[in-house]
Amino acid sequence: MFVSFDQLLDVTIEHFRLLKSRGTQFVTVEPDTMRLLNGSVPTSNLQVGTSSLKERSQSIVSIANGSPALGAQPAALHSSKARAIADLRERAMQCLKCAHLSSTRKNVVFGVGNIDAEVMFVGEAPGADEDSQGEPFVGAAGQLLTRMIGAMGLSREKVYIANILKCRPDMPAGSTGNRKPTPEEMQTCIPYLHAQIDVILPKVLIALGGTAVEGLLGRTGIMKLRGTWHTYRGIPLMPTYHPAYLLRNQSNTEKRKVWEDLMAVMEKIELPISEKQRGYFLK
Ligand code: URA
Repeated sequence: MFVSFDQLLDVTIEHFRLLKSRGTQFVTVEPDTMRLLNGSVPTSNLQVGTSSLKERSQSIVSIANGSPALGAQPAALHSSKARAIADLRERAMQCLKCAHLSSTRKNVVFGVGNIDAEVMFVGEAPGADEDSQGEPFVGAAGQLLTRMIGAMGLSREKVYIANILKCRPDMPAGSTGNRKPTPEEMQTCIPYLHAQIDVILPKVLIALGGTAVEGLLGRTGIMKLRGTWHTYRGIPLMPTYHPAYLLRNQSNTEKRKVWEDLMAVMEKIELPISEKQRGYFLK
């Protein structure tokens, strides 16, 4: 898909509007980008649409500077996000970058949920159930994730759920189960997830398990990383155990750890937490 410079500017402007609506007053811009936005770099090599680059880039700068005239327009923002996600989904649906995965998949499992979500969950890769249904986290681990989301007072419709890999990692003929994505598969597929996050711009990311943490933060060691705040491109990120781990380790101690991670997220986005909720898995 060809994205013109004009379209990129549209997305950038909407992105700044969203940041502003969430209270961001300043953004860091590379000096070269700033010069380009200010029009001091020749644009003859750039494809510019109907309005001049200078005109449009000045609106970006004034949004970044917090001009009150340029407040967020939720309906316009929502429809521009919906278009961006639909384009991205379309590209992912046709993706053939990993020939071994595109030839064995039943479905591309792009992601599901609310594109205006405050909370975005990121898992590893589709399993057999997800591959069959084309939706992330619908198997046994997914049912547990759905209950975890419900325990937070949210629903699958209110959050967004995606994976590092959009295709099911293929298995040798005759074998069952799942395998971890390879580093090459992760590197090839992750631009889709980066783009999803850039459009959705959740307030918080929850990385479910080691592979999600590795893909988003480039760090290993989920046992040590879980329960501590990290940042992915300015977005707070909470690593926690994958629900499949909890299905294998059903002790209240492990469930409590994940629940504490989720409560930290609830506090971060100011969701109410009742006394009953605070007591989950203590006994
Ligand atoms: N496990 C994941 O990491 N993602 C899914 O979508 C399902 C299971």
